[in-house]
Amino acid sequence: MKKILLIEDSLSTLKLLEIQISSLCNNIEILVSMSCKEASDIIRKNKDEIVIAVVDLNLPDCEEGQAVALTTSINIPTIVLTGNSSQEVKELLQKKDVVDYVIKDNYNSINYVAHAVKRFLRNSNTTALVVDDSKLNRTVLVRDLQKILINTLEASSAQEALDIIENTDETISLLLTDYDMPEINGIELVSILRKKFPEDVLSIVALSATNDDNILSEFIKTGANDFIAKPYSFTEFNVRINSSLDTLELFAKTKNLANKDFLTGSYNRRYFFESSEAIIAKNVRKDQNIALATLDIDNFKVVNDTYGHDVGDEAIKEIVTVLGKTLRKSDLVARFGGEEYCIILEDITLQNTKKVFEEIRLNFENNHIIIGDLEFSYTVSIGVFYGKSDSIEKMLKVSDEALYEAKENGRNQVIIHQK
Ligand code: GH3
Ligand code: MG
Ligand code: MG
Repeated sequence: MKKILLIEDSLSTLKLLEIQISSLCNNIEILVSMSCKEASDIIRKNKDEIVIAVVDLNLPDCEEGQAVALTTSINIPTIVLTGNSSQEVKELLQKKDVVDYVIKDNYNSINYVAHAVKRFLRNSNTTALVVDDSKLNRTVLVRDLQKILINTLEASSAQEALDIIENTDETISLLLTDYDMPEINGIELVSILRKKFPEDVLSIVALSATNDDNILSEFIKTGANDFIAKPYSFTEFNVRINSSLDTLELFAKTKNLANKDFLTGSYNRRYFFESSEAIIAKNVRKDQNIALATLDIDNFKVVNDTYGHDVGDEAIKEIVTVLGKTLRKSDLVARFGGEEYCIILEDITLQNTKKVFEEIRLNFENNHIIIGDLEFSYTVSIGVFYGKSDSIEKMLKVSDEALYEAKENGRNQVIIHQK
């Protein structure tokens, strides 16, 4: 787990920081210390896991800035808390690895720190690709991005950028591109990329020293999210890059809200129908078999009636976990409503279809749900369409009939209808 180190001698500030940061950031551990001495011990034990430090400039047991030196000397990105903004302080803050500083004069500064920590954590999981034919420009951009903890890749031409995006295993979520480059220029690159990568997947920021307003507007019309005119200040760069990444997150969240089910986080019916179109088209073209299954919990009303609706909800959430033991991430799985799920498996043999769904059925039978003092289990019935079809409605009708048969035959079984 990632760790954040707080060094601050005021107990109230420390507590507030801890509360605000933990309410904004998930999956992190917060280490707190009230003196230089305490901080040294913590750093010694946790050096490699500390991703960010928030450090008070003045601590009672050391000289001004000594605690900052402690974290920056081992390259821990550090946000400095200070009581004033004198010239000496500003100079100190030019130090490498001081990523931001905050004058702590009110409650809002604590809030600012918490948001900054959240952004830096996000950035440390973000990879940007810098595209510029000038090595010098790339170096400056890479340095500025790394200063705000973003991981970087470089390309010296648009073609190289396209090759990198095609071949890398890393998820590139930010692209910075120059305009004037030989062969393919920045606007052409944006146009190519936007066909494949929508705004919830890739944020694009263009940079240019041009005075030509047409270039700016062309960039935006083609799909760039923002444009930074050169020369720019680091502060402007920082703000614009962070706001582009905030927008990217917002796009992704909105898409998730539309496509995912609130209770379970599974894809919903709407998404299932939308993505099944492409799957079916591909399988018709390749003349491949598809298995489409409808899965429904047996006697689920009993679970609700016996343990209450909240426990029923937990039992529904458990479906995702149990399915995850057998299915791959790439398989299309969606909650269709209530305690019913639909699953599509592509390019699969009848024998493997039987094997997969029998395994799933058995996993449910053997699964015990424990909530507090309660322990119970449930079974599922699964109806499967197997074969070739160009219609999702027809496949669903067949899988529904198979499910009905499974229920009629006594539940806890898989029935496959081959067409
Ligand atoms: P069968 O074996 O025939 O499927 O019997 P069943 O009791 O599971 O019957 P059915 O599938 O018709 O009933 C589903 C029940 O699931 C009815 C409904 O109250 C309950 N339900 C639907 N959505 C939710 C939900 O989001 N949470 C909870 N707790 N219950 C739900
Ligand atoms: Mg049911
Ligand atoms: Mg049902």
